[in-house]
Amino acid sequence: MKALRLTLLAVVVVTVLAYFYEGFFGSLSVCSKCGRTKNSSRTYWIPSTTVKETALSRFCDELAGGAAHDHDWLFASGGGGEITCAIGEGRYLYPALRQEEPIQALRQIRQRRGDDAAKLWLGRLLDPKMSDEARISLSLLILDSPEFDTAYEEAEEDFTAASAWETR
Ligand SMILES: [Zn+2]
Repeated sequence: MKALRLTLLAVVVVTVLAYFYEGFFGSLSVCSKCGRTKNSSRTYWIPSTTVKETALSRFCDELAGGAAHDHDWLFASGGGGEITCAIGEGRYLYPALRQEEPIQALRQIRQRRGDDAAKLWLGRLLDPKMSDEARISLSLLILDSPEFDTAYEEAEEDFTAASAWETR
């Protein structure tokens, strides 16, 4: 009984120390192909990984029709131990993962313009360098769309103009 208590105590102490010192590291990544998120953490020798669906990844799955892919994880943020806060390109994709408007727009584009157009915009939305512009253009497409085709052309123009501005 005593041995068990000592073991438990040791586990608690090590875990607490691990958390406050170098033993703990946690990070969040985003897949640039499907928009899933991956939470990785490690407490000393115990690693754990959780992959989560997002609203965007559900659309990606529909579009891919169940075809599998190797996830391409972009580091978004993390911290622990010596590194208090690390950030990476994946963080630019966060806003695109859960907002309704861009995803609604993607669905409409797929319906009206086909899979290729939907894939084109999805690629933009999951590219850290273009995600913001793509998200804004897609939201506009949903918010003021008196007529889909006109709104689509406008979204395309907005996006191209914004990207050109960005790369200057
Ligand atoms: Zn993926």
